Amino acid sequence: MSDFAQYGLCDELNVSLSDLKYTEPTATQQACLPSLLSGKDIAVEAKTGSGKTLAFALTALNKFVTQPNIEQHPHALVLCPTRELAEQVTYQFQLLAKRIANTKILALYGGVAIAPQLNSLRHAPAVVVGTPGRIMDIIGQSKLDLSGVKTLILDEADRMLDMGFSDQMDWILSALNRQASDVQTLLFSATFGGNIKKLNEQYQRNAEVIVLDDAHSRANIEQIAYKVLPDKREYTVAALLSEYQPDSAIVFCQTRVEVMNLASQLADDGFSVVQLQGEMEQFERSNAITLFKGDCVNVMIATDVAARGLDIASVGLVINYRISDDLDIHTHRIGRTGRAGEKGVAVTLIDDLDETKLIGFNAQLPEDIPIKSAQALRFHANRIKEPLYTGIQIDAGKKQKLSKGDILGAITKQAKIPAKDIGIIQVGTHKSFAAVKLRSLKRTLAMFREERVKGKRIRARKL
Ligand code: ADP
Ligand code: MG
Repeated sequence: MSDFAQYGLCDELNVSLSDLKYTEPTATQQACLPSLLSGKDIAVEAKTGSGKTLAFALTALNKFVTQPNIEQHPHALVLCPTRELAEQVTYQFQLLAKRIANTKILALYGGVAIAPQLNSLRHAPAVVVGTPGRIMDIIGQSKLDLSGVKTLILDEADRMLDMGFSDQMDWILSALNRQASDVQTLLFSATFGGNIKKLNEQYQRNAEVIVLDDAHSRANIEQIAYKVLPDKREYTVAALLSEYQPDSAIVFCQTRVEVMNLASQLADDGFSVVQLQGEMEQFERSNAITLFKGDCVNVMIATDVAARGLDIASVGLVINYRISDDLDIHTHRIGRTGRAGEKGVAVTLIDDLDETKLIGFNAQLPEDIPIKSAQALRFHANRIKEPLYTGIQIDAGKKQKLSKGDILGAITKQAKIPAKDIGIIQVGTHKSFAAVKLRSLKRTLAMFREERVKGKRIRARKL
């Protein structure tokens, strides 16, 4: 048996898994689910995209159904490094919990007002997913009772430490250990370096460490380093994008300023780009991710921190605008390409000063990353790939009782746009998103302007 039935999960979860068409566990899930479900403390090192979220969400929810503690909530607490990741993890939990009655999954992160979050806590959530800073604030205000927590999950633990959340995590873990007993502590990380070992020793009890050995094997990624002059980096990125013409590409920069400068240069060159960096407002970040995931732009320019852990389907090309400081980060970045058996290309730009870093990487890699000169690369303005779709923001969502079917129905039936011209549709709390082919944009917007959808006027605009 290789499907999910072998794990003896509760019926609700088995039904959800089949609703969601998850039939085969990933290699990582196969390797860690039996141990996770046994209730032991576990540390898992596995690469990005290997399905860690589903593994821990199943563990926490199965325990919630089979060993409920009706009085005390939450039953599980998940710590994540960024708001986007917290939202993504929350969404995965929500999908799986659809069949389980009274299972509220709540995301708590910084950068947005705390009052509505405190309000949501009154309807006791079964699972809380959040970033360390905000969770600590809320515990500090005595608004989050941890005494019922049975599963604690540290997702992307290495990144949380890199981001300087060490003190907050210590504080939360100590508070949790004071308030609750029988907590299963699970640690997920793409690397298992020195600091993670400390967390593992300090907060886990005889944890089994499961290392998925393919974490560093990148057989289907072709890596090349291009030697550039310091003032030619931006030009070289444009040249590479027009050379490879990927449907989607991620360019990793070292700093926020680099991200902003490169984004405006590439936009001037005619590329459709979004940026993702820490100083953006929450709605800007969400919009950027939605546009990129919805194939409404081809290029995302990001810092490591902002892009970490995001569930973005495999991209055709990764460009390291600047080489990262250590090999683990490099491995993370290039892991965005060549997923799910597809071939990917990862290009790293280096100047004279960076070359020693690359030589250092090569010494640790089974195969050297070859170094080529970027001088022969040319930017071809006529070879810029157009995005597949254009994004439309719709000013209504779940709160207005708008569903995916309503939006699809309005666009196909009222605006008479053929289904093949429609990409992803996402319904949020108050806003929704739809991707349509450029040739159908005008008609779609006109429909929202001139007609009612479900009896109401709903505003929509190009994003
Ligand atoms: P990780 O946390 O290891 O980086 P994620 O949990 O974000 O990876 O999973 C990556 C993607 O794989 C998600 O889109 C998820 O829905 C999908 N996925 C996870 N498990 C399965 C499965 N068993 N079958 C198919 N898709 C899966
Ligand atoms: Mg993850």
